[in-house]
Amino acid sequence: MERWDLVVVGGGPGGYNAAFRAADLGKKVAIIEKYNSLGGVCLNVGCIPSKSLLHVSEGLHAVKELKEMGFEVEVKNIDKSLDKVRAYRDSVMNKLTNGLSMLAKQRKVTHIEGVATFKDDHTFSVRPHKGAGEEFDVAFDNCILAIGSRPVQIPSFPNDDPRLIDSTGALKVEDVPKKLLIVGGGIIGLEMAEVYQALGSEITIVELMDHIIPPADKDLTDPLMKRFESFSTIYLKTKVTHIVAKPKGLEVSFEGAACNETRLFDKVLVAVGRRPNGDLLNAGTVGVQVDDKGFIAVDAQQRTNVPHIFAIGDVVGQPMLAHKAAHEGHVAAETVAGLKSAFAPMGIPSVAYTTPEIAWAGVTEKEAREKGLKYTKGVFPWAASGRAISMQAGDGKVKLLFDEETHRIIGGGIVGLHAGDLISEIMLAIELGADMVDLGKTIHPHPTLGETLGFAAEVAHGSITEIYVPKKK
Ligand code: FAD
Ligand code: NAD
Repeated sequence: MERWDLVVVGGGPGGYNAAFRAADLGKKVAIIEKYNSLGGVCLNVGCIPSKSLLHVSEGLHAVKELKEMGFEVEVKNIDKSLDKVRAYRDSVMNKLTNGLSMLAKQRKVTHIEGVATFKDDHTFSVRPHKGAGEEFDVAFDNCILAIGSRPVQIPSFPNDDPRLIDSTGALKVEDVPKKLLIVGGGIIGLEMAEVYQALGSEITIVELMDHIIPPADKDLTDPLMKRFESFSTIYLKTKVTHIVAKPKGLEVSFEGAACNETRLFDKVLVAVGRRPNGDLLNAGTVGVQVDDKGFIAVDAQQRTNVPHIFAIGDVVGQPMLAHKAAHEGHVAAETVAGLKSAFAPMGIPSVAYTTPEIAWAGVTEKEAREKGLKYTKGVFPWAASGRAISMQAGDGKVKLLFDEETHRIIGGGIVGLHAGDLISEIMLAIELGADMVDLGKTIHPHPTLGETLGFAAEVAHGSITEIYVPKKK
């Protein structure tokens, strides 16, 4: 039986980054991945297909915007062009997953196809796909569990009905349902609402909490809520009590502040979070602790309670994001290779790729208030940004939070076009311990959306001249 210095289970952004980093540090590495393509949820049924579909919906919005400006443009029969939408999505995914296979070959990282379970603490048993041969063993000195997460299902819903879908089903874009209900006003729900609204569905969203994307500050989600209200129905502080499968559609009963009725939908997308896969690997038999939710506990080196077994990505905790998984992967690989490494970020940025986008990093204002932190806030409205107005993005804004005493940045958020790209400057500023003068005095090019970050710092500092902010008495 072949023995590996490192076996990584799972070929998602956590797994492949860990494997490639360890190989670059001289280790003999294999990835056990159940599918024949690397990339995990992110490349195959997550980040990349969703962003490809969002690119299509942005194009459709752009056509609408031009039409409103008086141009004679129109996209007709969108529902008859779904094969083109799917082909575009697949072309993007294939480019990236083929690229990953190439990167693995260049590094001599072997992709072993099949489902791994622990046989003992230095051996995996691998079950290939049906008909692809016998079960076999793979031995390792160290292993990294990068096994990801899966959509949460609500047991009382008719989960076998094909009209009830999860994010993977929604990304297939099999059709454009006339009436689509989305359960969960989180990031998946809203990104998919963007896509299906642009394709022609009538959207209803039901969210338990009092605002959409609850982890973000409400003032940042307000402009998004306003836009969504213009084309969809949103029930906040409301839940679905039951769904009955009827021949004509799914009959959904609501209960809560916004609706207490029963309504019929052609399809229902359930997007109420993801559950870590820690329960699917037999990890308990080798002594790896998995909690009752399916999370595997790790230390700053990504080590589980068993010293040569590491875990990274969605399976070790929130936020379940690809960039967090990738960074944790590097830490685990570097530790396996004997380097001193630790996962200790000052923050992890989050982005909702909606229109407008919402992005935040570091401490949110809600958290600052809950923790009793003393902070100075600088807000710059994009209604005063020439670039934003010219791009019909004047409803956006930047908000920065600074420690009241040291004036160092502790967090920030953006709502508006390209917020997901702009947030990197805030994240870098947090990591470098920049203060409001550093940010305000950094010369940003004009006219850009990026300069509004400098302006927000000047608002906090009191030196802003682009808008008038009355002095505090
Ligand atoms: P995964 O990507 O889940 O990979 C785990 C892999 O392990 C899978 O390929 C699985 O097949 C394999 N596996 C599991 N168990 C076994 C086993 N026993 N044997 C063999 N193989 C196994 N994050 C972002 O940062 N930005 C986004 O824009 C974004 N968009 C998303 C959109 C959607 C619709 C979804 C669902 C998620 C999105 N995410 C996004 C989240 C992101 O996809 C995950 O955080 C990320 O993929 C986690 O990486 P991972 O390596 O931990 O696990
Ligand atoms: P989520 O946790 O982000 O949002 C789920 C929402 O559903 C929450 O607002 C929650 O209050 C609500 N909810 C829960 N139970 C409910 C119920 N019974 N009825 C009504 N509402 C209910 O989860 P998600 O949107 O499924 O996404 C899962 C994870 O995938 C995200 O947390 C994120 O880590 C990742 N993701 C990231 C991106 C991105 O980075 N752009 C995109 C998609 C997914």
